[in-house]
Amino acid sequence: MNNPFKDLDRNNSELWFNKLKRKRKKGPRMQESDHSNLGISTQCVHSGQYDDPITRAVGTPIYQTSTFYLNEDTYAAIGDGNVRDEMIYTRYGNPSQWSVQDKIAQLENAESTLVFSSGMGAISATILGLVEKGCHVVTSRDLYGGSYNLIYEDLQRFGIESSFVDMTNIKEIENAIQENTKLLFFESLSNPLLKMLPLEEVVQLAKKNGCRLIIDNTFLTPCNLKVLDYGVDLVINSATKYLGGHSDLIAGAVSGSRKLIDQIWPQLLKNGSSMDPHACYLLERSLKTLSIRMNVHNDNAQTLAEFLETQEDIVEEVYYPGLSSYAQKELSESLLKGRCTGMVSFRLKGGNKSAHQFLNALHIAKEATSLGGVESLISLPYNTSQASLTKQQREAIGIKDGVVRMSVGIENIEDIIADVQQGLTKIEIQKEKLCETTLT
Ligand SMILES: *Cc1c(COP(=O)(O)O)cnc(C)c1O
Repeated sequence: MNNPFKDLDRNNSELWFNKLKRKRKKGPRMQESDHSNLGISTQCVHSGQYDDPITRAVGTPIYQTSTFYLNEDTYAAIGDGNVRDEMIYTRYGNPSQWSVQDKIAQLENAESTLVFSSGMGAISATILGLVEKGCHVVTSRDLYGGSYNLIYEDLQRFGIESSFVDMTNIKEIENAIQENTKLLFFESLSNPLLKMLPLEEVVQLAKKNGCRLIIDNTFLTPCNLKVLDYGVDLVINSATKYLGGHSDLIAGAVSGSRKLIDQIWPQLLKNGSSMDPHACYLLERSLKTLSIRMNVHNDNAQTLAEFLETQEDIVEEVYYPGLSSYAQKELSESLLKGRCTGMVSFRLKGGNKSAHQFLNALHIAKEATSLGGVESLISLPYNTSQASLTKQQREAIGIKDGVVRMSVGIENIEDIIADVQQGLTKIEIQKEKLCETTLT
């Protein structure tokens, strides 16, 4: 092939920014701060925040700029390949990004974090930044649709094979690992049935086989489970969900060692999925209340799940890691210790027809996709998150007709339960039953 840059042809894993032998600092950060000895609510409020020394404004200013004056330091950084540690151009880095990155890094116990313009931005840059031609990826059949499409459609197009396994079955995961398996990509808690990954065993598998382990921890957040503490290589959050928490922004984050994050950063630059400074400000502001919001989400979801279990006339099954009926109860108790997520799924008698009648009758929970906001949202997997699957495929992963997914908000739990309770009575088959009991 006639390549005028032949002399510059570089093996993918030896690009100049990866090859650097320099010692890597945590961050990048504008100011040194180590809050690792502080509680999580204190970290949420204070970590990563930049108070403005010129105006003495409290809190991080919004650095709404696309570029920065060049000076000797930045020219030197460009020459040395240290570009990630300087402000040069906002697609590369911006103080608003650094601030929110530092906050998330401290919450995750990570050396470094990158934020993105969406959760999928984080997932695609992370996966594309780490795979190479001819390698193999092991992942879950219960995967978030966007991640599934990326791995199944795009990686395939570029000659990267993948295996989709039952994420709860460690033997199946182990058997799927091949000689050329480079990545294991899993969600810690699946959508919508809230299946749990046997995290510690998967970490062991990854180490034994020399694979990188990436965990999408969106449904749990660092408040419920810090997966990096277990030896996971990289943790991803769709910050659109709990981290943002107010259903008003789209963002993503990946956290891990500075060395690995430095390998993903060039992919972010090429994909162009940098996060806008104004959205960074919104996210940093939201993160200040993440810990207290998660406490309420967790408690409300637990209470609602327990209530739903008492409604056996109309509720066939409840899926929630905090219930004693939960299929992986031991795993949930040992990893989550009662902090189980704000998501609750359940299956109604009468299938999707009942489910639609129920959703239509609710006043507080709004019918919308997405999750993790202060307001309760409710949707049916069959016509939203799992709509691209056939009925057969859905049933193969356990999603039967009548499954409802609720993102339990931080409203008063009495109001949420009263709303759900009246909604259940509006389901046709339940109405008929109620009529019969009053007649006899
Ligand atoms: C929403 C979601 C994503 C994608 O995030 P976006 O911010 O919408 O791009 C990825 N993984 C999980 C588990 C999600 O719920």
